[in-house]
Amino acid sequence: MSDYQISAIGHIQSPYKQKFAIPRQPRLVPEAKAKLIFAPDFNREEFVRGLDEFSHIWLLFRFHETADKGYSAMVRPPRLGGNERKGVFATRATFRPNAIGMSAVKLEGIEYKNGQLALLLAGIDLLDGTPIVDIKPYLPYSDALPDASAGFADTRPETQMSVEFSEQALEFINKQSHYPELQAFISNVLKQDPRPAYKKQKQGMQSYGMNLYEYNITWQVTDSHHLVTHIEPS
Ligand code: SAM
Repeated sequence: MSDYQISAIGHIQSPYKQKFAIPRQPRLVPEAKAKLIFAPDFNREEFVRGLDEFSHIWLLFRFHETADKGYSAMVRPPRLGGNERKGVFATRATFRPNAIGMSAVKLEGIEYKNGQLALLLAGIDLLDGTPIVDIKPYLPYSDALPDASAGFADTRPETQMSVEFSEQALEFINKQSHYPELQAFISNVLKQDPRPAYKKQKQGMQSYGMNLYEYNITWQVTDSHHLVTHIEPS
């Protein structure tokens, strides 16, 4: 095997401030907006000229938060309830050799502001600070394969979870004006049911917390129902 050195061409500014509750694939939560900030060596409009003709792009990135934890030959995909094992190359697991991830996301715009080039993205599944190693335009004629089969991950994961907000949570959402889609964003993150597989099998009420943007959000889960109990600045 040869060794290669790869440097980040930029990094992601994302509302997801910790791994927990990030959707397992891109575009499951369309309200997840992010910016790709180009590193100084790539901070020139020439690098992205023509990219605005594409509605979607591929991001190749490093699972930087977990990269130093190595990899296993076999992993337990959450899809299978965390009980069954598959080869790492048969999954999208984060703990993989080279720790490289790929996501097709929506490109909403290209910004050049105060000398900083950035891509405006939506539907991302990336942690804040994720290093980006390459960007490629998404090519529907070649990349979209409607007839492809996908074994244990053949269908979009759908849950029947309902989401409700406490009075305090609704008041907080309505008072802030930074994020017009905040309620839909929180709702769609929770509908993905971010609980670990073994917790989903447990009975009774469970309490959780997550950080989105600069907010702490706490919620309770009972059966298939989430209640967002409290939101406050982090
Ligand atoms: N779409 C990508 C792929 O297929 O390579 C990522 C799939 S991976 C299953 C998605 C998970 O990666 C998210 O739910 C989140 O927990 C985790 N994740 C996102 N950004 C990360 C980062 N920078 N470092 C480590 N884990 C990350």
